[in-house]
Amino acid sequence: MWELTNLKSVEVTDRYFDEALHLDVKNMLLLDPDRLLAGFRETASIIGGIDENSKKILMKGKKRYGGWEDGLIAGHTLGHYIKALSQAQINLGLSISEQGEVKERLDYLIDGLKECQKLTCGTSYEGYIFGASLINQDFIDNPALQFDNVERGKQDIFTQAWVPWYTMHKILSGLNAAFKLAGNKTALEIANSLGLWISRRTKKWNTGTKRTVLGIEYGGMNDCLYELYEINKDLKNNGGEEYEPDFGEYFAAAHSFDEIELFEDVLSGKSNVLNNMHANTMIPKFIGALARYEADRSEKRYLEYAESYWEMVVGKHTYVTGGNSENEHFGEDDVLDAERTNVNNETCNTYNMLKLSRRLFAATGKKKYLDYSEKTLINAIMASQNHESGFTTYFQPMATGYFKVFNTLDGNFWCCTGTGYENFTKLQCGIYYRTEGKLAVALYLASKLELEDYVLIQECDLTKSDVVRINIEPKQGKTVKDDIYLRIPTWLNGKALIRVDNTSVVLRECEGFYIIKSEMISSGANIEVTLPMGTYYSGLVDNESSFAFCYGPFVLSARLGNKKMECRSHGVNVSVAESKCVDNDDINILDEKSVGEFLENLDRHLVKRDGEMEFDLTGTDKNLVFTTHFNQYKESYGIYWHLKA
Ligand SMILES: [Zn+2]
Repeated sequence: MWELTNLKSVEVTDRYFDEALHLDVKNMLLLDPDRLLAGFRETASIIGGIDENSKKILMKGKKRYGGWEDGLIAGHTLGHYIKALSQAQINLGLSISEQGEVKERLDYLIDGLKECQKLTCGTSYEGYIFGASLINQDFIDNPALQFDNVERGKQDIFTQAWVPWYTMHKILSGLNAAFKLAGNKTALEIANSLGLWISRRTKKWNTGTKRTVLGIEYGGMNDCLYELYEINKDLKNNGGEEYEPDFGEYFAAAHSFDEIELFEDVLSGKSNVLNNMHANTMIPKFIGALARYEADRSEKRYLEYAESYWEMVVGKHTYVTGGNSENEHFGEDDVLDAERTNVNNETCNTYNMLKLSRRLFAATGKKKYLDYSEKTLINAIMASQNHESGFTTYFQPMATGYFKVFNTLDGNFWCCTGTGYENFTKLQCGIYYRTEGKLAVALYLASKLELEDYVLIQECDLTKSDVVRINIEPKQGKTVKDDIYLRIPTWLNGKALIRVDNTSVVLRECEGFYIIKSEMISSGANIEVTLPMGTYYSGLVDNESSFAFCYGPFVLSARLGNKKMECRSHGVNVSVAESKCVDNDDINILDEKSVGEFLENLDRHLVKRDGEMEFDLTGTDKNLVFTTHFNQYKESYGIYWHLKA
């Protein structure tokens, strides 16, 4: 069992990552908290039966935002926003004054929600807070009507119910984080009271109702209820007084959202189980399964469910960037090339797969989860941000010739906008893991880790050099008692060279890690790790001529210029790339006899420019320049190409 190191103990010092954090926080603070709270205040004023004048005071004359914040899914943004602020408040990448500004915003919102929840006291809605639009008199008469409609199987997203449990998951997870990370006790009071409202509701479900409800996207309701249960259990065990005495109710309520039938189907490995399923509906269900195992280690089958699911998604539905899905859905097993379009790889999916992978590594110690996490963090998550505006993507096209489309500051409020806020305030997550006597360096990313006994400073920038320097310094009067586990990357091109205090060492390898024993470093050490990188390719099973190129941990994409970059609306007001700047994605090989020989000699045909992450393609009929995909945000791109000889 490994544990993610506390977010408060790690600071990312990589310049690009640090800029990403600051852009995200800057944009979040530009939003008006009263407009994010407006829907919640409106609902609360109706439940509390307050008069028009008091309602005006409560609303502070502010209206809800537009986009998805004006509809039946509204309020989801506030949940994400609270979680992202909670992460930012403790992020060492922010200065004390920046953290203070974030804290002030977070406290203001939590107090605002508390004020809303107070208005429900003594009513039949006790504990309920929600921010969705009250679209007609029926919703004004019953501000929880969406939940009733879901139970009756009514699911018109404009008139009956969008995904209220999905939204509820965002709200409850945000509150959990505000307590767990930022230490806001009011947030826990709100979460506990809301948790009891949820529990009263789920208790009334019979098997039929449960089946109907679970047929509609509900986010990770099981995950956040298990989390709330664990928060309370820990408080009780540690003698804290804030816990809710009835917290066992959350555990039972969480079970109501576990979908055993689906879990068993996935575990049985049936083919095409995920075909046509909405990807971002599915992933959190399995994070919830893992949460059940985390809350009760005797429930080993739930770990198996989560592991089988991960295997299925990563093995049969995932592109080289770590992303999955076409138009938000999974396709048939192993059909990937045929589904490359302008609407692949919804960002929420990679956000969730990354969350699942990190927790699966913690639960199992299997290195494959870290390999996937590295790939996805760099090539899907970092790739989802516009590095000038800080805005983020919904989809990332896999069809060659399209481009990334980003949200606007306050016009969209898509699901991926919310997960986007969260992504860049927790970039320090998943770099280091710890267990009894061991510290794992899971990611090679410039950062500083401060533990009780020692400080570890990692210096590197893999876009510039393959050398990683790790300095370990014990604190006054302490010694280093941890063995250091260095992840052996799958992309290594040759043998890694490791020097400890300027002496080459040959280290024992164990389950995908190089191990530096604590005896070697007990009084501190300078470790230098050289991780040779090279170009390599990655194919797609359903088309033997379709390939992507990579260098070290980086997926490369061809620069295709900024002509023909027009957008259109798709789904519910999502902007997508409409125009494609290439007629085809064929590359005809001229210098080699076969595709196989071309790939075998790839380093001769994809030539890295000295000191740059730019690669010139040679020996083909296309003059292309490839670069790291993560920072392509200005032009059209091509990751996959059909090679022909
Ligand atoms: Zn999304």
